[in-house]
Amino acid sequence: MPVEKTLVILKPDAVARGLVGEIISRFEKAGLKIVALKMVKASPEEIERFYPSSEEWLRSAGQKLLKAYQELGIDPRAKIGTDDPVEVGRIIKRSLVKYMTSGPIVVMVLKGNRAVEIVRKLVGPTSPHSAPPGTIRGDYSIDSPDLAAEEGRVVFNLVHASDSPSEAEREIRFWFREEEVLE
Ligand code: UDP
Ligand code: MG
Repeated sequence: MPVEKTLVILKPDAVARGLVGEIISRFEKAGLKIVALKMVKASPEEIERFYPSSEEWLRSAGQKLLKAYQELGIDPRAKIGTDDPVEVGRIIKRSLVKYMTSGPIVVMVLKGNRAVEIVRKLVGPTSPHSAPPGTIRGDYSIDSPDLAAEEGRVVFNLVHASDSPSEAEREIRFWFREEEVLE
């Protein structure tokens, strides 16, 4: 079935900057339907549980940052004290908890043809500095991993989007009860 549901979170920077309407309208204009929506002030425990703690996830997030550092000519050992991908992933996760609990977030479920893949395309790659124009991260942010490291935080990139149909299912169930997601 190509018709899918995916989870999107407008992160604290999107809410603080007044971009909620602007970002939601991009998804709507593309043809996706909102089937659940709420505003939440998440707790550190919730964010800790929401993002996976598996070595696989930590390594993948760590590798992403190490690759960005390499492209930007940054020495990870000097900057964050390690170049071990899983350890870097742990550092990212700790900072992510701080970021995601720094203000209210808007959590929603979007439904449509190939929703998971299409939402990722509209959102763009993780770091706004390398996200192409036309993507949400590319159009509304100029943040980058080197600036983020300078300020001791993760990259502020406005939006979370599920990265596979199976993750989408888990993430939707995490934030919404079954009857809260409309058909
Ligand atoms: N993150 C970061 N730098 C990285 C990897 C991740 O700042 O190199 C932060 C960023 O806020 C990202 C979140 O951690 O959105 C989750 O990481 P993931 O790899 O899942 O990226 P996404 O799927 O959000 O693009
Ligand atoms: Mg992800």
